[in-house]
Amino acid sequence: MASIAGNARAVRDRADAAARRSGRNPAEVRLVAVTKAVPDGRILEAIDAGLRVFGENYVQEATRKIAAVARERPDLASGIAWHFIGTLQRNKARHAVGAFEVIHSVDSIALAREIDKRAQAIGRTQRILLEVNVGGEATKTGFTPEAALAEAPAIDALARLRLLGLMAVPPAAEDPEKSRQRFRALRELRDEIRRRGAAGEAFRDLSMGMTHDFEVAIEEGATWIRVGTAIFGERPSV
Ligand SMILES: *Cc1c(COP(=O)(O)O)cnc(C)c1O
Repeated sequence: MASIAGNARAVRDRADAAARRSGRNPAEVRLVAVTKAVPDGRILEAIDAGLRVFGENYVQEATRKIAAVARERPDLASGIAWHFIGTLQRNKARHAVGAFEVIHSVDSIALAREIDKRAQAIGRTQRILLEVNVGGEATKTGFTPEAALAEAPAIDALARLRLLGLMAVPPAAEDPEKSRQRFRALRELRDEIRRRGAAGEAFRDLSMGMTHDFEVAIEEGATWIRVGTAIFGERPSV
């Protein structure tokens, strides 16, 4: 099996090349290493390879890992950021607020309000992205593009939230080019929200692109890519 350090370097090289060929600065593209179902030892290996930003999908699994990593690498813990990228139930919001530097997957105004309330309660500001269903799948969570545009000002106005941008998880397609339309739609939506002044200056991020399509996402403007398999290998299926 290839080493995590080698895999991470290969992902970074591909990301940098994708940025350059689309005329972007590679430093604008940041990597979230997705560690759902990845054992603690492999996460420590990733930390020792220099990775510092990790993405988790389940609050309980994540809070256990965050504590374990802090125990194992106490000197580095303050430099490690955990991002939440999974579906967040409202009744779990209080456990997520403060534990995660960024919550990428805010998919309703009710959840945004709950996060704001919980952040207020602990005297924190929570950075968030809005998840948008750019594919239009009936079964998927997320704001419709129209709803994101309409609700952005109200969410941006919540005192304890800092709205950084948008996130999308297009359906896995065999051909990454199929995701290009969706990534482009997300970028155009971000641009439209900015043009209308529907969110503040901080609103610029696009969280999009996974193992099979992160290069296309970068070409379409991703500022965060969320990559698991290409770094850690296939996850055991549950
Ligand atoms: C699992 C997951 C990823 C990473 O997927 P890979 O294909 O393993 O890179 C990215 N984003 C979200 C929301 C995920 O759930």
